Order: sequence, then structure tokens, then C-alpha cells
Amino acid sequence: MAGKTQKSKCPVSNKCGGCGYIDLPYEEQLKKKEAYVSGLLKPFCKLEGITGMKNPYNYRNKVSAAFGLDRYKNPISGIYEEKSHRIVPVDSCLLEDKKADEIICTIRSLLKSFKIKVYDENTGYGLLRHVLVRVGKATGEIMVVLVTASPVFPSKQNFCKVLRSKHPEITTIVQDINSRTDSMVLGTSKENVLYGKGYIEDKLCGKTFRISARSFYQINPAQTEVLYTKAIEFAGLSGKETILDAYSGIGTIGMVASDKAKTVVSVELNKDAVKDAIINAKKNEIKNIRFFTADAGEFMEQLAADKEKIDVVFMDPPRNGSDEKFLKSLLTLKPDRIVYISCGPESLARDLKFLTKGGYKVRHAECVDMFPHTEKHVETVVSLSR
Ligand code: SAH
Repeated sequence: MAGKTQKSKCPVSNKCGGCGYIDLPYEEQLKKKEAYVSGLLKPFCKLEGITGMKNPYNYRNKVSAAFGLDRYKNPISGIYEEKSHRIVPVDSCLLEDKKADEIICTIRSLLKSFKIKVYDENTGYGLLRHVLVRVGKATGEIMVVLVTASPVFPSKQNFCKVLRSKHPEITTIVQDINSRTDSMVLGTSKENVLYGKGYIEDKLCGKTFRISARSFYQINPAQTEVLYTKAIEFAGLSGKETILDAYSGIGTIGMVASDKAKTVVSVELNKDAVKDAIINAKKNEIKNIRFFTADAGEFMEQLAADKEKIDVVFMDPPRNGSDEKFLKSLLTLKPDRIVYISCGPESLARDLKFLTKGGYKVRHAECVDMFPHTEKHVETVVSLSR
């Protein structure tokens, strides 16, 4: 946290809580993260280092801003104050893509003249709830998602036209209708494409990926390449393996690994992400990959029951890790190698305990700093074999 006597690099870091390490030298941040993960993994292996970024700023390719009103009823946009629902106004953030921040400010400045009311959580009146901007760092494509409380969006075409004239770099605009009462940014059902193709593309490790508003995509593509390259190196592929890519998102890891494998089977819960994955495989002319929409644990149970032979499992679960169903089936399937990619060191340690008790040994573990200036957030890639 920012020192009390010295001015912080970020004026709102204390309120937002998103960059707890912003005032520490980057080298020191890396050391702290390394020591933290190293401590957690001590019972299983020696951590072999951490890879940081050359320029650890403005790396976020996805920026989301909440819209609300200040006490004078003027529209504000920014982030929720840590552990609260109060909006801290933010125009620019050291972690976020600069262009994305500029677009959000422009949108806010246009609201009045278009008579677009921001949504008021207390009364349920108003239209605009959030704006999400996604940037394809390698392609330059930009998607703007306007999250509205209802489908009725008067003068939307004109609004998009003016927004595009101010930011010609925007390649697509999507309206996402979110009438939920929880704090999730995006809705679950309706989406209207207001301009462009409704998705953007980005490039990772030489492959092209389609990203739609709701699919998961790593937020720091430069470090993602570092991470995937390490993960695939750890897998020691010869070209003969059958691979399972579990928690596959839009299919990135499996597709990058497909050149070095016989076949790839991918499983992911989010059906929009799987739709993107299938299109991505076609676009990249990858023929040795199949995708399944399912709970990874249930899918693994089925594979184990069918006595399928899997040589290498890549697993990249959400922060809270994998579940017992998945891990138990992993022990039944007995792949030669497991590559565990984790954004939650605590859950990683918990799952490694299970896998090492079940007969696996940790061979390598390295960290990649995907989220510079944040506290504790770090990716770890671990390889295990029997
Ligand atoms: N490997 C991908 C995505 C990792 S994020 C990448 O590198 O981009 C974790 C993914 O797990 C998300 O796409 C999320 O939708 C998915 N997920 C969460 N719970 C799941 C479950 N129970 N079964 C399968 N997938 C799940």
C-alpha cells in the first residue's frame, strides 16, 4: 500500500486496491511474489524463478468501468472501491491499456448530449451500467461493450457513429443486456452487435484467436506467450501424444500445443468460449483437435470410466483451483505428465498435495508475472509426472 508520507504513483491505489505493489520497485515485487509461491510450494519442489515484464505498465488488454452518478448527479466512471459498491472515479490507470481508458472517458463525455442515463443501483432507473473495452494488442482491433440494464437503447446507432468518429480504431461495438442484481459486469443472455463483427481477433504464439465479449482471454498477452511457451516446454511433447487441455477457454493452450501432438481434446464449461474455440481451430487450420462443452471434472470422470488413454494433461483452472472430481479422475486416468497452470498459488498447493499423494512427483515449477503491481497475483506453471 502507498506510504502515508510519500505520494503514491497512483492517486486512488488505496481506495481501489487493484495495485497494492505500485509503489514498490518492480524487482522487489517480483522477489516478493517469488518468495510467496516458493513458500507455498516448498513441500513439493523448488521454485525455479519468476519471469517479469520488461515494461510492466498498461498491459491490461481488458478494461472495465462501472458507471454511476456522483452526489451532484453527474455521470462518473471508474472502479468499485475495494469491498464496496461505491465507484471511485478513474480516468486512467497505470495497468490498463491507454486507448481503452481514453475510449471510456469519451463515452462518459457523450452521455449528456445523447440523454443516456446511467443506471442507478438504488432505484433501478437508468440504462448504462458498465463499459468494457477489449483490445487485440497484436492486431490493434478494439471491441467496446456497452452493458445496459434493458434492451431499449434510444439513438444507439447515432451514438455509435459519433463514438467511432472520435475513435476510428474501434472495430466493433456490442450491447450486452444485464438486468442482474449482483455485481457481475456482463449479462448471461442477450447481446446485440451494434457495429462490426461482434468480436475481435488477437494473435498468440503465431496463432490467431477470436475473442467475443463474454469469453475468457488472458489479460496480459505478452506474458501469456511466455507462460504458454513454458507450459509446452514442460510437457516435453514429441508429436505422438494425446493431450487433454482442461479449462481450455477459447482453446489457446491446446491449439498452441497441437503442432507438437497427435491429438488434442479440449474441455471448457463456457459455451461461448467453446464456440470461439471451434472457429479458432478452423481459422488456424488445426485438424487434430476436438472441443467439448462440459464441467471438466465430469468430463474427466467419463474419460476415466471409458478407460481413455491420455498422455499429457494441461490444466488451467480458475483461481480456486480444480475440484476433487477432476483430481480423482486424473489419478485414475494416470497421464504420464501433467502441466498445471495456476493463477491461484494457494489452490495450486492444495491440489499438488492431492496429486503427489496419488503418486505424482513435481518436476519443475516456475512463475510468470502476469499481473505486475498487483499483490500476490501471479501465474505458476508446474510439471508433474508419475
Ligand atoms: N486455458 C485458458 C482459460 C483459462 S481460465 C486460457 O489460457 O486462456 C479458466 C477457464 O476455466 C475459463 O474459461 C472458465 O470458463 C473455465 N471453467 C471454470 N470452471 C470450469 C469447470 N468446472 N469445468 C470446465 N471449465 C471451467
